[in-house]
Amino acid sequence: MKYIQWYKEHAAKHKAIVEKLREKSQDEIIEYFDYENMRTKHPDFCPLYASNSKCHDVKNLNCYMCGCPHFRFNDDGIEIKENRVVYSLCTKNLGKSFESEDTIHQDCSSCTLPHKSQFIKKNFNVSWSEIMNNCDLNYIL
Ligand code: SF4
Repeated sequence: MKYIQWYKEHAAKHKAIVEKLREKSQDEIIEYFDYENMRTKHPDFCPLYASNSKCHDVKNLNCYMCGCPHFRFNDDGIEIKENRVVYSLCTKNLGKSFESEDTIHQDCSSCTLPHKSQFIKKNFNVSWSEIMNNCDLNYIL
């Protein structure tokens, strides 16, 4: 799946859920996106829910900011680095990278920053698309 396809599909799913939570406070909305609650109430939100697995093996995983505002992608390639095309990266230089002979992708498996409530509160917006506004470099360039 291309980054942009996931990005658009996820934005639509996130928006549909948040619209149903309009009466709730910011803290209640964030709490609602707790992994266990989401897995039960919105099994189609994430493909990992079906197998009861998580992207990060942490307690109290929160799915509100799945994706991350520091993530950048371009399905056409961002830059060439050591003869390989970089398709995604982290603006904070966190995490690692998946590298093949000719491609480099950001690997966020070791970074839990966007799943921590403090980070979510600091970057909160009812619109997931606005939070992730800068992620798609193809769109903003
Ligand atoms: S944060 Fe992890 S478990 Fe939650 S929706 Fe995103 S990928 Fe799935």
